[in-house]
Amino acid sequence: MSTLRILVDRGRCTGIGICESLDPDRFEVDDDGSLVVHDDTVADADREATIAAVESCPARALTLVGASAE
Ligand code: SF4
Repeated sequence: MSTLRILVDRGRCTGIGICESLDPDRFEVDDDGSLVVHDDTVADADREATIAAVESCPARALTLVGASAE
């Protein structure tokens, strides 16, 4: 299976935190509203929650891209 990687457009992110609520192991919004991505590599096992978070971002700040096999 392929690995996906998360890209964040920080110019779009407004720190609302919907991504954090859907995939809290991966996304965290700091006290100052900055998004922290704990791991930008998405394995198959946790793909479902991450895809839901990416698709639910109202600012469309998150993108999943294919990552080359390592
Ligand atoms: S849901 Fe989107 S806008 Fe909100 S913190 Fe996450 S990436 Fe930023």
